[in-house]
Amino acid sequence: MRELAAEHGTPLYVTDLDRVAENCARLRAAFPDAEVRYAAKAHTGRAVLETVRAAGVDAECASAGEVRRALDAGFPGGRLHYTAVNPPARDLDLVVEWWTEHPDLTITVGARDTLDRLADRGFDGRVCVRVNPGVGAGHHEKVRTGAAAKFGVPADRAAAVVAEARERFDAVGVHAHAGSGIHGEEDLAAHRELVARMGDLAREVGDLEYVDAGGGFGVPYRESDPALDLQAVADATREALGDVDAALAVEPGRYVVADAGVLLTAVNTVKPTADTTVAGVDAGMTDLLRPAMYGAYHAIRNLDADAGRERAPVTVAGPICETGDTFCDGRDLPTPRRGDLLAVGNAGAYGYEMASTYNSRPRPAEASLAGDLLRERETLDGVTRLERGGSVE
Ligand SMILES: *Cc1c(COP(=O)(O)O)cnc(C)c1O
Repeated sequence: MRELAAEHGTPLYVTDLDRVAENCARLRAAFPDAEVRYAAKAHTGRAVLETVRAAGVDAECASAGEVRRALDAGFPGGRLHYTAVNPPARDLDLVVEWWTEHPDLTITVGARDTLDRLADRGFDGRVCVRVNPGVGAGHHEKVRTGAAAKFGVPADRAAAVVAEARERFDAVGVHAHAGSGIHGEEDLAAHRELVARMGDLAREVGDLEYVDAGGGFGVPYRESDPALDLQAVADATREALGDVDAALAVEPGRYVVADAGVLLTAVNTVKPTADTTVAGVDAGMTDLLRPAMYGAYHAIRNLDADAGRERAPVTVAGPICETGDTFCDGRDLPTPRRGDLLAVGNAGAYGYEMASTYNSRPRPAEASLAGDLLRERETLDGVTRLERGGSVE
């Protein structure tokens, strides 16, 4: 890690592609007869997508941009699913255009009128209907999608919309996603309920290729969190689905990449205060938004402190003028020194992906654990390019 930070600078995301492949293999083993689809929005980096493709996991895309990335990473249309949530016209235009060359791709619609919008564009391919099952789960209010009106066709209209989709298109599946970060008994119960309702729907409408039970498999962010019992989730999913004449599909994102990434950041300022020692670091909420956005916990390790270093309450804070720009507050950590290198753990999912240029901060670089530069650090020119007619480079 120190070598990578020295070579590429900080803040730096480091991604372990072998770990991505292992996570894919573990998913395929736990769901042996299911279609496993990677929800690409967790990390759309080219190297990650290529690793996922090589590991035999398909791609679930949330936008035209993600579909483009998946195609560029070599996913054939038959392994590509576009889940259209209130899809912008431009996204539908692009995806339908690409569909003409990749006619096996599937579009998942979450509103009846998306069928009209697809037909208007000449689409008559594979369609899946996203259902709002009325149950949600997940690590934070903001990511519990299952019951939010925004997502999916209301359950009481789902069968009618599937019937309509079948008349006009090739209706291949039904889909629901409870939310993100399912971990623990309560979430699992909600997941089971969702899957059971999907099983009922599949039996009602019949003649489907698959029932997609969504993603949301949690990962242990706290050192004290137990690992997710993936086999238990898989068994519960199968059992809840019941007997259906269709394949099961699951679409985890976080599970594939979260523990394959860390964010390296350097301590630039050390400030003792009455309650805590503030370690001012060069990464901020613009590099890793989860703590500010969800109050998320990420393990932090001081890679330069040996076991003998005294410990104290430490607040690791970024360079942005927002209170939320804080990775931890008063956490028991080795007393920081200027120049220390910190690693923020489990940063592989929704990490780089949610990075922004707020405060005119260029986005960080990303390297593979093996040492390859996967994404260059953004430059200041890059940040301001669009105001100058995009003329730079
Ligand atoms: C985000 C998302 C997922 C993946 O969620 P994770 O928590 O990352 O596993 C799966 N399906 C859909 C439709 C999503 O929007």
